[in-house]
Amino acid sequence: MITDNQASLQLESNDALNSSNSQESSAIVIGASIAGLLAARVLLNHFDRVTVLERDRLPDQPERRPGVPQASHVHVLLARGQQILEQLFPGIKAELAELGVPQIDWTANFPWFGIHGWMPRFQSNITSFLASRALLEWLVRQRLSADDRVTIMSACTVKQLLANADRSRITGVVLQRDSVEASIPLFADLVVDASGRNSALPKWLEALGYPAPAKTIVNAFLGYSSRWYERTPDQSRDWAGAVIMANPPVERRGGFLMAVEADRWVLSVGGIADDCPPADEQGFLEFVQSLRHPLLYETIKDATPLSPVQSYRRTENCWRHYEKLKRFPEGIIALGDAVCAFNPIYGQGMTTAALSALLLDQALTQTLPLAANQANRINDRHCFSRVFQMQLARLLQTPWMMATSDDFRWETTEGDEPTYFTRLMHRYMEQVIILSTSDLATYQALIEVIHMLKPPTSLFRPQLLRKVLGQWLRCRTKSKDLSRQRAKQPASASL
Ligand SMILES: Cc1cc2nc3c(=O)[nH]c(=O)nc-3n(C[C@H](O)[C@H](O)[C@H](O)COP(=O)(O)OP(=O)(O)OC[C@H]3O[C@@H](n4cnc5c(N)ncnc54)[C@H](O)[C@@H]3O)c2cc1C
Repeated sequence: MITDNQASLQLESNDALNSSNSQESSAIVIGASIAGLLAARVLLNHFDRVTVLERDRLPDQPERRPGVPQASHVHVLLARGQQILEQLFPGIKAELAELGVPQIDWTANFPWFGIHGWMPRFQSNITSFLASRALLEWLVRQRLSADDRVTIMSACTVKQLLANADRSRITGVVLQRDSVEASIPLFADLVVDASGRNSALPKWLEALGYPAPAKTIVNAFLGYSSRWYERTPDQSRDWAGAVIMANPPVERRGGFLMAVEADRWVLSVGGIADDCPPADEQGFLEFVQSLRHPLLYETIKDATPLSPVQSYRRTENCWRHYEKLKRFPEGIIALGDAVCAFNPIYGQGMTTAALSALLLDQALTQTLPLAANQANRINDRHCFSRVFQMQLARLLQTPWMMATSDDFRWETTEGDEPTYFTRLMHRYMEQVIILSTSDLATYQALIEVIHMLKPPTSLFRPQLLRKVLGQWLRCRTKSKDLSRQRAKQPASASL
């Protein structure tokens, strides 16, 4: 641990990194992935300078990089996430269109083979651009770095936190640049940890004498494999991707095919309960062929592959409960996967990161009246960090409930026992899904919730509730009739 004295000695040789103007307020973001970049964007509304520190050497082009292995897989930006992106970076949707990114209406151009068959196809005006993850991140990074108040430092790893004398406040970070041995201190009024699922913040806090947060883990043991293919134009195809769902509790395999820019398909297939798709070519194809519907296999079987098969296994839902810590230093907050990482099947990560960035903006607006020098103001504020983590925990409850409730449909899922409420939600959602196969309004309401445009409570509005309960009663009557018929049959008939 570098002490403040040691740090300030080294600081003299690092004036370029640390502002010489003590009147300027500054923030540091650890991690230049989606959560970090969006947080940096809102920090610009409140601080004079923002520095984003990223361990990877960031590519100049939209390319994959080691710190974001998930970029090899299907990556959907939900409709709500896209709205927020446009709000933070006006004109970004037009840029995606210019870059040749396909735009779809989720109910019209993205067939969904659910538990009870194909969902209806119609225009719902719930739309998204289908960009590859590498392109999306690159575009956001370009837009952010166009602001000269932002510095994005690539190939530089944060090693630990700096604190004041009584360690009640984080005052900066210690970083190490690639191929430079010396550690460099960097001071700021606020540090934001957006370093992802493997965040070292619990370890850094412990080094300063704070407790590490408790973790809740819910693991459905999903394994993923993906491959990219050439997409040849086909006038007869009026869709740009499709999803084939698994079917709890028995059929564990599902797949997601998505058109992306540069005339490519990305196909991700996965299996629950360690039914992982093989990473070899033949095994992968056999897995695709074994899905509940042949559409994905038929689409890619003759397509030219553009990548090897890539696999991913770290898919458990993991929530670090910073909001429950009795002691948490000021001057630092955490968000994104560093706090709560979801089973990626539900595509909520980037949108939740975007919602968290808006929350941060709002929290800073309430805490810091707009003024030229905010450094002292944030220093004067008590409990900003703890209060933010509590507000964030409230925001996370909905995506967490949506992701984990579905995972608990599998008996093999490990984690806290599902509550009575979760089980009730399963039953209710099952009826909503059955109804969605024939009722457009119900399907539209479901998609609005999946895309985080509306809260799950919207599925309980009176008109929908009546329909769902009616559907439930019909199902119960049907299954009672079936049981009665079976009971009447002679024992030999069941053999
Ligand atoms: C297989 C898979 C598929 C997914 N699919 C979707 C999807 O379809 N839709 C969706 O919305 N989300 C999806 N997600 C989740 C989504 O990728 C993340 O939620 C999103 O990227 C936000 O993560 P983050 O920015 O918090 O962390 P990450 O994306 O993990 O980024 C953390 C960054 O911090 C850097 N870093 C780490 N430690 C340090 C350090 N000490 N110093 C400096 N830098 C550091 C890393 O290099 C990295 O750049 C998926 C995830 C996976 C794994």
